[in-house]
Amino acid sequence: MDTLESGWITTGRKTALFENKFKEYVGSKHAIAVSSCTAALHLSLVSAGISEADEVIVPTLTFAATANVVVHCGGRPVLVDVRRDTFNMAPEAVESHVTPKTKAVILVHYGGQCSYVDEIRAIAKRHNLCLIEDAAHALGAEYKGVKAGTLGDFGCFSFYPTKNITTAEGGMVTVNDDVLAEKIRLMSLHGINKDAWKRYSSEGSWYYEVLYPGFKYNMTDIQASIGIHQLDRLEYFTKLRQEYAQLYDDGFRDLEEIETPFVSPTGVHARHLYTILLQTEKLAVDRARFIDELRKKNIGTSVHFIPLHRHPFYKDTYKYSESDFPVAEDIFSRTISLPLYPGLARADIDYVIDTVRKLVYSFRK
Ligand SMILES: *Cc1c(COP(=O)(O)O)cnc(C)c1O
Repeated sequence: MDTLESGWITTGRKTALFENKFKEYVGSKHAIAVSSCTAALHLSLVSAGISEADEVIVPTLTFAATANVVVHCGGRPVLVDVRRDTFNMAPEAVESHVTPKTKAVILVHYGGQCSYVDEIRAIAKRHNLCLIEDAAHALGAEYKGVKAGTLGDFGCFSFYPTKNITTAEGGMVTVNDDVLAEKIRLMSLHGINKDAWKRYSSEGSWYYEVLYPGFKYNMTDIQASIGIHQLDRLEYFTKLRQEYAQLYDDGFRDLEEIETPFVSPTGVHARHLYTILLQTEKLAVDRARFIDELRKKNIGTSVHFIPLHRHPFYKDTYKYSESDFPVAEDIFSRTISLPLYPGLARADIDYVIDTVRKLVYSFRK
């Protein structure tokens, strides 16, 4: 209400305040608020100088935005397989796909968990590659005591409604390098060297210069003012997500038909997703039918993700084959993301556990 009544609704004081709170929380030197995580990823690649003929390594088990932005830069997304335990990008797959054209690696912290970061960072260092974190799931996650978003050269966050905090739509780039931070800020608002606040407010001036052909990726003060209050509640949200994940773990522990998510001992899991793997060999039902049965009981679930190599654009353009990604294929054939968000009541979690158990009993071979 303060923002709406202030007369200043786009990028201004509230956006600066949100950025300051965010960088303090994550522990980065800079944080630049933008319109989405997709914009954050795109700006990171542009600032890293990715252009035509460059290759960027991306896991296949991710949302389309992670790879689409490479195409927006004119580069080639090189999809690689993941590890079966955490569903994160496999270090050996990264290593084997590095070519003289490789310029960057985008690390996705699947479901809110960071793993194999040391291994992938070592590969990036050895080949002089830029390391970008797609931390869309990982606000609050830690790896060996360090927060996600400060593990590589750039950290990219999402405030889409399903993510751990929201601004309706929005994103953030975290970065330690002063020059890269300035480039991102410029590129997020037309490549102009002064934002509207510096031009139209009482201390502003009309003069500005276009230094690059930038984008329109800025965050508004309306979004930022939601983000400020959401960030205050993040610890509480994360605690609830972790409690609910524990209830699910306990609720399925004795069922061999349900594999619960592996938690790496290397850090703090932000519990963005709770993904089970169905041991379909032991069930007289496949994953699609299991999801339908849950829907009939009023339980909405999802699949994270349809691997990128299966989508027509990636398959047809880069000639990927399903046999190139055996681990992602195996995960994709079994995975279901169960409801997990702070608005759930304890009774909702109990209902999901009870319903899943009954389905397993009724389809047991
Ligand atoms: C949600 C998501 C994004 C995109 O976030 P937006 O803020 O909607 O642009 C990128 N990567 C992953 C892994 C995501 O889940």
